[in-house]
Amino acid sequence: MSRPPISGATTVAGVVGSPVRHSLSPLIQNAWLQAAGVDGVYVPFTPPADGFDRLVRGLRGGAVRGLNVTLPFKEVALAMADRVSDRAKAAAASNLLIFHGDGTISADNTDGTGLLAAFAAQAPGFDPKAGPVLILGAGGAARGAAAALAAAGARQVRLLNRTAAKAEAVAAALGKPVVAFAANEIAAALMGVTAVINATSAGVADSAELDIPFELAPRGAVAMDMVYTPLETPFLARAKASGRRTVDGLEMLIRQAEPSFEAFYGQRPDPRVDVRALAIAALEARKAEAQA
Ligand code: NDP
Repeated sequence: MSRPPISGATTVAGVVGSPVRHSLSPLIQNAWLQAAGVDGVYVPFTPPADGFDRLVRGLRGGAVRGLNVTLPFKEVALAMADRVSDRAKAAAASNLLIFHGDGTISADNTDGTGLLAAFAAQAPGFDPKAGPVLILGAGGAARGAAAALAAAGARQVRLLNRTAAKAEAVAAALGKPVVAFAANEIAAALMGVTAVINATSAGVADSAELDIPFELAPRGAVAMDMVYTPLETPFLARAKASGRRTVDGLEMLIRQAEPSFEAFYGQRPDPRVDVRALAIAALEARKAEAQA
């Protein structure tokens, strides 16, 4: 099936971030639209750093059906909404805004369900209830992951961050079962875990990479990296070399996009569309371009 020509009835949604140029969301969402023959389109929006609120105010009323929100606007997106889902509240951030015809905005957060769905797809059998999970980082992504794991029944969620005070603040805000570990307590934090999740931006933009002693985690522990450029990050490569199963950040990106598509266009994306292969091809083309 192919998408009908753009018309006066076309549903418009998009992604807003700064920068947004390298977002894979337009590729993924438009592939699903095309396959389903939906009269919809999904486009990028890049407001200036101080222009997010003007953009969102301008969209109140429903000219655009909704927006996915990425860095650095997830927290302000939450603050601008009139209605906030429990999971967005717990994450203290929103990656999904829906604009209603009466001028109101609702905010949701699908990153946590995306994370859990990525585990289900790439590490089948992983059970968040089975034992402690360690999350590295204490930014928005770490908080969202901790909240989602807690909601999924995790017995203990350990947060370990370079700046320990931030991990303590997130643990205090979320409460049980989330606990903070000091930056130098990695050995204790890895003890008995069922998963280690990298929710830091270490290694991105030439910052120092993480060097995690995966051999201190149980053999069955799963390593997950939210970063997906490259697809196999040094964190995942080390985990794999130590015999641990891995889950990549691209799977999380795709899985968080599924409920967004449904919220924008009123139907589930067709799972037969291989958006993962499309995204990998786009990442490879981008890498080749950078090396040329
Ligand atoms: P934030 O900027 O809010 O947090 C960044 C975190 O990384 C902080 O905890 C920071 O520590 C830590 N950090 C940065 N550099 C280093 C380093 N060199 N060593 C150790 N820790 C470091 O970002 P987000 O939480 O929003 O996002 C984190 C990552 O997750 C990003 O790369 C983002 O792209 C990715 N992400 C991927 C998603 C997906 O779908 N795959 C979804 C959401 C996010 P400190 O507090 O000490 O500064």
